[in-house]
Amino acid sequence: MSQIFLNELEAILGKNYVLTSEGDTTPYLTDWRKRYTGKALAVLLPSNTQEVAAIVKACAKANIAIVPQGGHTGFCGGATPDASGKQVVLNLKRMNQVREIDASNQTISMEAGCILQAVQERAASEGFLFPLSLGAEGSCMIGGNLATNAGGTNVLRYGNTRDLCLGLEVVTAQGEIWNGLKGLRKDNTGYDLRDLFIGSEGTLGIITAAVMKLYPLPISQWTTLVATQDIASTIALLNLFQKRATSLLTGFEMMTQESLALNEKHFPQMRNPLQNNPPFTVLIELSDHESEEHVRQLLESILEEAFEGGMMSDAVIATNLSQANSFWHMREHITLAQAAEGANLKHDITVPLSALESFIQETDHLIRAQYPGVRIINFGHLGDGNLHYNIAPPEGVDAQAFNLAYEKPVHELVYGQVERCGGSISAEHGVGQLKLEGLRAHKGAVAHDLMKTLKRALDPQNILNPHKVVSI
Ligand SMILES: Cc1cc2nc3c(=O)[nH]c(=O)nc-3n(C[C@H](O)[C@H](O)[C@H](O)COP(=O)(O)OP(=O)(O)OC[C@H]3O[C@@H](n4cnc5c(N)ncnc54)[C@H](O)[C@@H]3O)c2cc1C
Repeated sequence: MSQIFLNELEAILGKNYVLTSEGDTTPYLTDWRKRYTGKALAVLLPSNTQEVAAIVKACAKANIAIVPQGGHTGFCGGATPDASGKQVVLNLKRMNQVREIDASNQTISMEAGCILQAVQERAASEGFLFPLSLGAEGSCMIGGNLATNAGGTNVLRYGNTRDLCLGLEVVTAQGEIWNGLKGLRKDNTGYDLRDLFIGSEGTLGIITAAVMKLYPLPISQWTTLVATQDIASTIALLNLFQKRATSLLTGFEMMTQESLALNEKHFPQMRNPLQNNPPFTVLIELSDHESEEHVRQLLESILEEAFEGGMMSDAVIATNLSQANSFWHMREHITLAQAAEGANLKHDITVPLSALESFIQETDHLIRAQYPGVRIINFGHLGDGNLHYNIAPPEGVDAQAFNLAYEKPVHELVYGQVERCGGSISAEHGVGQLKLEGLRAHKGAVAHDLMKTLKRALDPQNILNPHKVVSI
């Protein structure tokens, strides 16, 4: 049976694009965090939408499950197959063409396997900003960004991937091609199918192409690092910037003392230019379409007001692009420093800004009381109420052993606090296999049942990424 099925796939894709040997498939079977390793009957590399549709039809006929995969940088194991060796991985990296930039409609139309950074660069070469930006942009792909509804550092001004998307092309679980590639900003024709597939992590359909929004490139950007003493003054600072800079505020990232200490341990060149290691370091970016001078004056005047109002104690404004980039690298390297330190317990959570202070104070207190010596690596897109509230074991304690013993109770403690504050247990990383149980416990019974109903309706055979997001 397996060989007949593989022959059929080879007839669709050509022999070179059906990978089956261990040497060829291994790079596709372990997730970025090295938390999950699976097996696959084959790794498939289609080059166009018709091939994807033909693969899905062949899999449906043979009742073989498909795990869609982009750059495999997701944090929740969504793109990693299970251990059965009976699933196929469908990686879209060969579908990497920008189909069109429509300058008057300010849209870009592209295939799902385009690398995010390549899309940013292509847009910039034609004078546009493609605002989606995240630490993995050199390897994650647009299809994966859409499937996870990725966030990143520009959400505050431009929204998340969902907000940037106008149209999709999707291969359904039956192998039909839905062409929803309309670059429309208004379309009220019933149920929003596009929004159903965005964020569905490959469980409802396979995204093969998209039309996304473009924006004018800003002509000047100013980046600053600001020292704050506590979370209340950090939020007051955010509110001040929102009020005074309005849409010019494009970044507001928070890093705690402990996060930056971990950075310096693994990347000693990444020293915080602010004096005396403040409890909180905030990276703020303003972008403008007027003059350099205009935004610089605005930034200085807001900082002055914040200083006089006691919201901050120190600031460093980047004087050139390379210094601004070094500030952003400091922020982005925290994720890499954590990976270098070893496994840690990650919580990508969001709570309303009004509840953030109480969330941090109470959760910090409970965690430190119950797990003495742990390091709370708390940083994130504070402007969106999104914290990466991660727990590393005490110095010198084996990470694997710590996680094995405490993963469940630590998650439950943090998620309980999130629920108490009216938040969400996944702000931007999705659910995958990591948070399957968490979603079931915290989404609410009615919402969880509705999700299962949708999954059963669109994929009754359960062949698209089974046991990810919801189990039916
Ligand atoms: C250093 C680093 C920094 C990061 N920073 C951020 C951040 O700031 N914000 C953020 O949101 N995330 C961040 N991430 C997580 C990750 O990069 C994002 O989730 C990204 O969107 C995943 O894209 P990918 O192409 O790697 O998808 P993959 O990991 O390959 O897949 C993710 C999920 O999408 C599904 N999928 C992939 N392609 C398709 C498709 N074409 N059709 C249907 N389903 C598909 C997969 O089955 C899987 O469930 C970061 C990751 C790293 C390593």
